[in-house]
Amino acid sequence: MATFDDAVAVVTGAGSGIGRTTALTFAERGVSVVIADVDTEGGEETVARIEDDGGNALFVETDVTDPSAAESMVDAAVDEYGRLDYAFNNAGIGGAQNPVAEYDPEKWQTVVDVNLVGVFNCMRAELSQMQAQDEGGVIVNNSSVLGKVGFENSSGYAAAKHGVLGLTKTAALENGETGVRINAVCPGFIETPLLEAGGITSDSEMRKQIESRHAMNRLGTPEEVADAVVWLCEDDASFITGEALGVDGGYLSR
Ligand code: NAP
Repeated sequence: MATFDDAVAVVTGAGSGIGRTTALTFAERGVSVVIADVDTEGGEETVARIEDDGGNALFVETDVTDPSAAESMVDAAVDEYGRLDYAFNNAGIGGAQNPVAEYDPEKWQTVVDVNLVGVFNCMRAELSQMQAQDEGGVIVNNSSVLGKVGFENSSGYAAAKHGVLGLTKTAALENGETGVRINAVCPGFIETPLLEAGGITSDSEMRKQIESRHAMNRLGTPEEVADAVVWLCEDDASFITGEALGVDGGYLSR
């Protein structure tokens, strides 16, 4: 495994929110980062912020639902920086909010395509590279507290996030002896544009209600998730694989 100083990471959904903050946190520690996102403007802005701080980053327009785009993302990391040490599979969407009986099947499929199939597509490409290199690697998938418990009107999201944990554990078993560790983070509700889009941070009553589901009675920050992701990539976490780490202010303790 490379030291952080000369390591290489890919972060999907790095044009916004948790992904952008994680990319910036990697870069602060000397990691070169491939910024993958469907949002070109957001992705280029993340690259500019990293370069302004003296770091290395490359934007690769990537739709994680497309297996060949996921392969191109990994190829870009290897072409530019020579290998791939860390991957944070984070791109995701909130999706429609409806009870199961009223959920539009196409919209349900879209949430699962981005939030679950997208993680599979990226892991497939990342594992091929990491297994082939002497240094191995570390993959962290972004699940959610809704990967462990349900949430009314969010069946597609919760099903996909539960699926991410099944994928994480299975790949961890398959890679126990290949030098690749695979873990997930399960964030509570984190203050990002995704929550704004879902109306949670813009509606003060809803915000209070969501905050109260966390033992700490507040939302989390993208920095709190980024620090956990980067820690899982460090050698300090060398015996941790197949784990689903709550970063949730006590949400799952109820
Ligand atoms: P965000 O600010 O909306 O960032 C997500 C990024 O992913 C956006 O730039 C988005 O682009 C991009 N994206 C969407 N579909 C994509 C695709 N098919 N391929 C590549 N990129 C795509 O959201 P966030 O809150 O940081 O969420 C990041 C991850 O954390 C998600 O997986 C989410 O489920 C998970 N998470 C979030 C929370 C929370 O409370 N915020 C809690 C638990 C887990 P567009 O903006 O163009 O769609």
